[in-house]
Amino acid sequence: MKALVVLSLAAVAVTAHAQSFPSKPITIVVPFAAGGPTDTVARQLAESMRKHLGNATIVVDNAAGAGGTIGANKVARAAPDGHTLLVWHIGMAATPALYRKLPYKPLEDFEYLGVINDVPMTLVGKPQLPANTYRDFENYIRANQGKLNLGHAGLGSASHLCGLMWQYAVKLDKSMTTIAYRGTAPAMNDLIGGTIDVMCDQTTNTTQQIEAGRIKAFAVTTAKPLSDHPILKHYPSLQEMGLKDFNLTIWHAMYAPKGTPAPVLKQLNDALRAALADPEFQQRQKALGAIVASPTDKRTTPDGHKAFVASEITKIKAVVDAAGQYAD
Ligand code: ASP
Repeated sequence: MKALVVLSLAAVAVTAHAQSFPSKPITIVVPFAAGGPTDTVARQLAESMRKHLGNATIVVDNAAGAGGTIGANKVARAAPDGHTLLVWHIGMAATPALYRKLPYKPLEDFEYLGVINDVPMTLVGKPQLPANTYRDFENYIRANQGKLNLGHAGLGSASHLCGLMWQYAVKLDKSMTTIAYRGTAPAMNDLIGGTIDVMCDQTTNTTQQIEAGRIKAFAVTTAKPLSDHPILKHYPSLQEMGLKDFNLTIWHAMYAPKGTPAPVLKQLNDALRAALADPEFQQRQKALGAIVASPTDKRTTPDGHKAFVASEITKIKAVVDAAGQYAD
């Protein structure tokens, strides 16, 4: 009898928690500067998700620095009540390889809510670069080894990983000087202004700049060219340009602190999946070269997402160990 009472009290508590969520504004931590690629994904997603959370207020907190690990750590340490969430990309899987010491455990300190999208990257250069094709670009970089610099969003960011992978693939004798920013939004300003020479950045940040002619684009990092994108279809894939097996597509996903109650996680996952099915969100992402994960994609379930990140950690670690370049 006593056990029954306790059980039903627990059930009431769980229901009450679900019904009262969200009880205040939800904060999505973006671990990079405002106006950049991850910020854009998070803000577009928030606009769609809030409709499925009783029009909740969702604010974005740009907790930038250390390649995304500062923002991730902030969420790992936040109250596990569903009001603080993280939107991060492949960095969740790349940083365990690049940083031999992390302040949090990627597979233990978070609740996995689901993958949001897949985003190709683009190899881009400042408008003053003398090259106009990928071939000319690679030759120019080779001829100017040690003199050029590459901007990225911090050690462990996607732009850092991509820059490393590309330099490793083309076998430069002397690496480019890398310059770390708090996100590729400020790095993009410097690329447009000509302070930095090269960047490998997500299409969610480069597409509009390429279209406006503010930067030069040379190649996409996907295995195949992006033939159905009106702007990005004009650039070859690095594989086509002879970089065998080069294939880098990054993904974004959403996380909550470990210990967030199951009913709240369910509400958040339902809202996330509803946003993924929202034609408006899909359209806005598509225009920027990103592909929203289909709600039938296993990675949009908490278990599928976690299994995917675990496999990405293993895959990226092999690449980073082979290159022998670490952030610390
Ligand atoms: N996603 C980062 C940003 O939003 C860029 C990166 O990871 O390279 O700035």
